Amino acid sequence: MTGSDEVTVVCPSCGEHLPRWDETEAQGAVACAGCERTYRHYRGVLDLRSERQPTCWSSAMMNEEDLVREMVSSFSSASTADLTELYVQAHRLPDDVLDRDREYMLAAHARETWTVRYMDFCLDRYAGPSARLGRALDAGCGSGGSLPHLGARYSHVAGIDPDLAALVVAAKRCSEHGIRGRVTLVAGNLEQRIFADRSFAAAKCTDVLEHVMDPELSSDRMVRALQPGGALFVLTPNRFSFFGPEPHVRLWGVQFLPKAIADAYVHRRLGIAYSDIATLLSARTLRRVLAASGAEVIPVPVEDKHLNPRSLRGVRIRRLLRKRPIRAISRAMRFFQPSLEALCLAPDAKATTASWRR
Ligand SMILES: [Zn+2]
Repeated sequence: MTGSDEVTVVCPSCGEHLPRWDETEAQGAVACAGCERTYRHYRGVLDLRSERQPTCWSSAMMNEEDLVREMVSSFSSASTADLTELYVQAHRLPDDVLDRDREYMLAAHARETWTVRYMDFCLDRYAGPSARLGRALDAGCGSGGSLPHLGARYSHVAGIDPDLAALVVAAKRCSEHGIRGRVTLVAGNLEQRIFADRSFAAAKCTDVLEHVMDPELSSDRMVRALQPGGALFVLTPNRFSFFGPEPHVRLWGVQFLPKAIADAYVHRRLGIAYSDIATLLSARTLRRVLAASGAEVIPVPVEDKHLNPRSLRGVRIRRLLRKRPIRAISRAMRFFQPSLEALCLAPDAKATTASWRR
């Protein structure tokens, strides 16, 4: 693998390219030549966060510094499962939530097999072949369940997440899968500019956009980080799905309550405010948020998930139904399906005009 496959990380504060840090060191720091800020790294994970925004379960974390210190010192001898246990135990949450969280992290690699295959399918169907070659970004990678899958498809993978401790688990996971040398891990918020423009052939942002403070700015950053011909795959739970409880807190209808009531209700049950965990998007909002980046937005139709013609089930169902009823059902279901998916195609090189470059 050549060095040119590595991704260029920029200083979120001044935009200067940051020097490469030694990912084999247990801990260290890099200095920005532009603004002289220093950024620390832990087991190769560079911490570029300027503020700690509450996201997902982060406000239930007891003490991030203590947790990261403990993970860094036990890293060499610990397994992904050991680090996951440290991570889960560092949260102040009811036992059933912790059990779910542990299970979610331990099953992350297996679960993401489906997600990355679904992304493959959407890229093949709606994007050009250039979205399948080169570097990939996992925006909101958490404990890195997708990284080995992306690593098998792309020459270099970058993972970014505001949760530094989860990224240390991701670093271990990548080592165990033998791809650590081809993965760049950065703690940061999606609203920050962290990668040079046109760095990636593809970006994946699944179960993440509902947790960011500013989905519009986050989408804009991701689209700008795409090469011409690149594509961003987004998946997020649908605010208007009536098929189950709110997927993060498992409480029915909480996403429809006024903010203050939802916060108080979830706080009583789980000890943290709902708005610190998630804000679900509707199909319409998602489309508007993504389109603001200037990308061409393709909402993935319902039948692509359930009638994927590459799956046996898809072939069978397609034989049973004719095209017209499927399309009508698909249109009607779009607003109520459990999760929303969309592909954003980066503006191509010729179309990159002053209007896109702010
Ligand atoms: Zn700087």
